[in-house]
Amino acid sequence: MVVGAGFGGMYALYDLRRRGFTVRVFERGSGVGGTWFWNRYPGARCDIESMEYSYSFDEDLQQEWTWSQRYPTQPEILAYAEHVADRFDLRRHITFGTGVGAAAYDEGTDVWRVTTDTGEEVDARFLVLATGVLSATRVPEFPGLERFRGQLHHTARWPVDGVDVTGKRVGVIGTGSSGIQVVPQLAADAARLTVFQRTANYSISAENDRLTEEQIRDVRADYPAIREKARRSFTGSTVPINRQSALAVPEDERRAQFEARWKLGGFPFLGSYDDVMRDLDANELAAEFVRDKIRSIVRDPAVAELLTPDDHPIGSKRICVDTGYFATFNRSNVRLVSVRERPIEEITETGLRAGGEHHELDVLVLATGFDAMTGSFTRIDIRGRGGQTLAAKWADGARTYLGVQTAGFPNLFTLTGPGSPAVLCNMFLAIEQHVDWVGRALSTMREEGHDVIEATVEAEEQWTTHVDEAADGTLYKHANSWYVGSNVPGKARVFLPYAGGVGRYRKICDSVAEDGYRGFVLGRARAGTPA
Ligand code: NAP
Repeated sequence: MVVGAGFGGMYALYDLRRRGFTVRVFERGSGVGGTWFWNRYPGARCDIESMEYSYSFDEDLQQEWTWSQRYPTQPEILAYAEHVADRFDLRRHITFGTGVGAAAYDEGTDVWRVTTDTGEEVDARFLVLATGVLSATRVPEFPGLERFRGQLHHTARWPVDGVDVTGKRVGVIGTGSSGIQVVPQLAADAARLTVFQRTANYSISAENDRLTEEQIRDVRADYPAIREKARRSFTGSTVPINRQSALAVPEDERRAQFEARWKLGGFPFLGSYDDVMRDLDANELAAEFVRDKIRSIVRDPAVAELLTPDDHPIGSKRICVDTGYFATFNRSNVRLVSVRERPIEEITETGLRAGGEHHELDVLVLATGFDAMTGSFTRIDIRGRGGQTLAAKWADGARTYLGVQTAGFPNLFTLTGPGSPAVLCNMFLAIEQHVDWVGRALSTMREEGHDVIEATVEAEEQWTTHVDEAADGTLYKHANSWYVGSNVPGKARVFLPYAGGVGRYRKICDSVAEDGYRGFVLGRARAGTPA
């Protein structure tokens, strides 16, 4: 059984089916696409380039699908998901409109008993959670939120029919990637837009553009090599990191390099120099360059100051990629309110009170993020050996082996889970690698007469320590972010992704498989395959 029909679940279905397994998928939404099904807010767009943010498993698919822009919009990515579902005839195995509420491992039969929120009970030998790592939405407990009589929308639960803000007074809480994308779009239509910012964020201009026929042709001609290069790289991208130190070059040369990377747009800016993500002094040089950009774009110096991040290294929170975000604050209908200086006191029937001032609002948008990396797993009542819940096991921080399994939960796979590099790279690359690894494991087990696989506690402990140590070589722990769970009150502060590099991670996973699934115990189920 696969839970979720986003890009992870779709490929898991495709891959396991072609390996001869019987697969059933449950999907809460009414269609495929996962993240791109739910995040329909205006301006939603991927921050990885389209020609790379796509499946590589089928050469014909990647040769035939034509992306229109360098950074694809949500509607285009959703259309791609639907195309893949049709092309590979995936829908007939997917039950839409059905979430999975609980799953319990029966130690007597080695079967997962899964209960859906429509009351169906289904047994499965293997349970693959493709529930996404940025899908469990988070709504802060603002006093009075339930009283608000206007329209209230979380960016990741945006209505299918859209929201018409023409002539309306709109408020946005949150200035992460979602807020930074939605703000310019809402500002264009709303009568008044008020942005409630707690932490100023670094954002790099996307420099998005339409793809030319020549660009598409060049990538297609070299697709297998490009994909392979990305798989073996550190960041999952083909744009190289400049191997020089930012501290070792003269100032004018450094400025020219930052400028060139800024013009390139998006994530590659962080690869301007080798040590930007590892050395605080090098990082500060890159951060100051971006701060100068903000000051040069935003006309009102007081607003520019509020928008200028100064409390965390650049890139230590997931960097944002925007189209016209900072310039939006030059519009006369847009106001920035720092809720750090003027905290949100309450939501009222007609708006929001912050720092003693009441803001009248017709529409309130929550761009407040997710219980990232663990929430979509732990919100399901998953019970492994001895009835232990996954939520209880991970209460002090997620512990996994390779990000793909956790001890005490046999035959349960957490696609792109905590302890894997997924969110630090191109999610498609991470999905394909995890699904291929799980599929290969299940095929090998079948050939060898095994049908139970479980990570050992020792392997899990070693991996969890390794994940923590890998982050020590970076600046990620210097920020409060969803990478460390600090955006969710009460969540253990643990660095969740694997920061040791995508290529290295792949090598480790492959060597574990080649070594007879080192760190896993393989066995025989106590009862036959469930019907
Ligand atoms: P996020 O990065 O966690 O940002 C949430 C925002 O809400 C932050 O500005 C946060 O402020 C604010 N916030 C949360 N609770 C608050 C409270 N009680 N009062 C005031 N402000 C509050 O969430 P996100 O923007 O949805 O992005 C999450 C991740 O999804 C991204 O990092 C990215 O990986 C992915 N994403 C990608 C794209 C893309 O591809 N372009 C687009 C959207 C999302 P603080 O910073 O002070 O906590």
